[in-house]
Amino acid sequence: MSDTVLVLNVGSSSIKFALYGDPAARPLLRGKIAGIGIGAGPVLSARDEAGNVVPADEIPAQDPAAGHDALIPSLLTWLAGYQRGTRIVAAGHRVVHGGRDLAGPQMVSDALLAELDALVPLAPLHQPHNLAAIRAVSAFMPGLPQVACFDTSFHRTQDRLAQLFALPRALTDAGIIRYGFHGLSYEYVASALPVHLGGRAEGRVLVAHLGNGASVCAMRARQSVATSMGFTALDGLMMGRRCGAIDPGVLLHLMEGHGMTAAEVAHLLYEESGLFGVSGLTNDVRVLEASTAPEAQEALALFAYRAACEMASLAAAMEGLDAIVFTAGIGENSALVRDAICARLGWLGVALNKDANAANAARISAASSRVDVLVLPTDEEGVIARATRALTSG
Ligand code: ADP
Repeated sequence: MSDTVLVLNVGSSSIKFALYGDPAARPLLRGKIAGIGIGAGPVLSARDEAGNVVPADEIPAQDPAAGHDALIPSLLTWLAGYQRGTRIVAAGHRVVHGGRDLAGPQMVSDALLAELDALVPLAPLHQPHNLAAIRAVSAFMPGLPQVACFDTSFHRTQDRLAQLFALPRALTDAGIIRYGFHGLSYEYVASALPVHLGGRAEGRVLVAHLGNGASVCAMRARQSVATSMGFTALDGLMMGRRCGAIDPGVLLHLMEGHGMTAAEVAHLLYEESGLFGVSGLTNDVRVLEASTAPEAQEALALFAYRAACEMASLAAAMEGLDAIVFTAGIGENSALVRDAICARLGWLGVALNKDANAANAARISAASSRVDVLVLPTDEEGVIARATRALTSG
């Protein structure tokens, strides 16, 4: 019987999962339940170790009305029997918030869960789902060792100044600071840098994680120096449906002048803004790229403009720039967006090789570029699997 590690990344409308034999190798199975609580209901899809789609007749049917509570046990039942001759010996979870103190992955215990429950107000849209998944696994497999890996941990190396808002001290002391997110993705990229950059990996590197959620991290010696997301995952770059950095006076105006409630403002900022709101069409960059509508083109242009401005600001935070890495759905696949961003960073010594960029090559900078520019696929699940194995083996 060989051992496997289960990885769960549970979001508000999706559950991503993976099953690893060797955490250093490709997962035996990787998949997603999408559409939870929306549209026609949950849809499970998965790929095997070779990257082949698991046939529909091997995938359990999903109850259209099922929420997270029902989906997690049925997913675990399927995964536990997925491959004969294997058994799940540990589970690792992506947990969005680890607060001020948790600077690395932790074994799950009652005390840890109580500490993480107390952080729910800081990430109300994500943390409850993450913790419910841990509890669902405990109920289904009592005694199974579990590990929590936090999106905030990677940024705890930042100087105090990079974490402060210019607010009264009492609020800082109460935890209203810049936490930063996407840490598991940044940790993966940091681990992959030496292979691609040699000694320059230890220099000043900007990593742009451009997915539906988008942020940038400034790294020195492969540690976080500053990042564009702050107290919440709303700050910084324009995103798929989130606005990114915004004049806080706009929020006061919407509430006082337009009579909007806090819940309505939250919905506007998290769900109706970003590429979706500016284009009036969609948050899918593929669709926007194919569209000739001026609103679609303006949305993409604003996305690139805002990303370039944030990246230049973070280059100032680390006092220079040696390399840029693009990752996540847009960063790995959109030559157009990468080109539009890098065209605005020429004054920092950035020049692209157009052919390499069009081909999504690993190195897309021109030979003459003072700054190396890379495209690296991220692997958050791999980071969780390795941390889980490291904390639970022996
Ligand atoms: P999430 O934050 O949901 O994990 P992803 O990292 O999967 O997001 O990124 C989703 C984004 O990537 C979407 O905007 C999608 O349009 C974009 N994307 C995916 N493939 C391509 C592609 N081939 N060209 C351009 N954009 C792409």
